[in-house]
Amino acid sequence: MGLTVLRAALAGTEVGLRAEEGVIVALGPEVVPEPGDEVLDALGMALVPPMVNAHTHAAMTLFRSFGDDMPLRTWLETRIWPAEARLRPDDVYWGTRLACLEMIRSGTARFFDMYWHAPEAARAVHDSGLRAVLAAPLIDTGNASGLAAFKDDALGSLERIRPFEATGRIVATLGPHAVYTVSRPSLEWLGELMAERGVGCQIHLSETRREVEDCVSETGLRPAELLHACGLLGPQTVVAHGCWLDPHELALLAETGTTVATVPVSNLKLAVGRHFPYLDALAAGVCLGLGTDGTASNNSLDLFQDVKVLSLVQKFAAEDPAVMPASEALAIARGQRSTHLGGCAIEPGAPADFLLVRLDMPEVSPGDLDANLVYAATGAVVDTTVVAGRVLMRERRVAGGEEILAEVRGRVGRLTGG
Ligand SMILES: [Zn+2]
Repeated sequence: MGLTVLRAALAGTEVGLRAEEGVIVALGPEVVPEPGDEVLDALGMALVPPMVNAHTHAAMTLFRSFGDDMPLRTWLETRIWPAEARLRPDDVYWGTRLACLEMIRSGTARFFDMYWHAPEAARAVHDSGLRAVLAAPLIDTGNASGLAAFKDDALGSLERIRPFEATGRIVATLGPHAVYTVSRPSLEWLGELMAERGVGCQIHLSETRREVEDCVSETGLRPAELLHACGLLGPQTVVAHGCWLDPHELALLAETGTTVATVPVSNLKLAVGRHFPYLDALAAGVCLGLGTDGTASNNSLDLFQDVKVLSLVQKFAAEDPAVMPASEALAIARGQRSTHLGGCAIEPGAPADFLLVRLDMPEVSPGDLDANLVYAATGAVVDTTVVAGRVLMRERRVAGGEEILAEVRGRVGRLTGG
């Protein structure tokens, strides 16, 4: 028993697609359902790959639009940190469920996440049907004396997320927060742990000028150089932001196969002062992905909005409208410019992760589909989201959506003191 999609538009032809046990087993005009299949009629819809969110903090949906238009430090100190101090594990579960609901509705199949109570985020991802690479934030506030506690946190977080890996949709990784919140001895220990266990990591890197200046004055190294010296760079590492990376750092990232998640909307909103140096990264051969960041600093998880900003920021910065054409921006947003991000093509043998996009929506007709998806569409053009062969949304309806919204609404007052 599988899933069959009929009459979908793919590169100008009408095709069928059949999936079994989470994998695409047939694709083409001749595909017909097998007995017992769930059948979707996709007439008038395009079959396209889903988005991959390379950097977010999903449960921050709880703090969406809570303290906008404030300087970063004031916002963290007066809004986010006091609210996060009240967080309970089940808040993270429901906040992550809300994030998953939004991602399913805007065509994201997989996300890279770093947030408190990560095992609860794993449970939420498990229940939502999405894929995620999850990490608990690891911080020792720059004090190496906390190394024993830091080790317990790191190993404990991996152990508690690991059981969810049995789903085949969830991966446990390490989440050192940043070079300014984790001391060098702790970073070095993490580098050894990653090598020993073959585990990946997610870390914020080179987001602000101050981060770079402080790192250089304290260690004599720029942030990416420090991570390299500590053994944290590699094909299983995703670094988020990267706005202030210099050519030597980009060369290190390329050489080690590290992926950069560029986060343009968050960078613009928090006014970090510099765009991600995309053209230099491209020339160096750095693997790339697109992230939203958390909804407290974006404030949306809809990558169809962010892919437009991604492309426009780079064109504007380069004073060249030919930079990052729509198809390339989509490839980045779909996780297809880094093997680690797991972005998949629609072909037999690939995971059955795909979207059906309604072609009768004004935003996607007429004109070139890729260009429309980047420059005109929002996630609202997605009719159907399928992940691992399971239909998570059909005709824009997601099972359990009402309950998730009600649960989150009931929690926000306590958390934000409202
Ligand atoms: Zn972040």
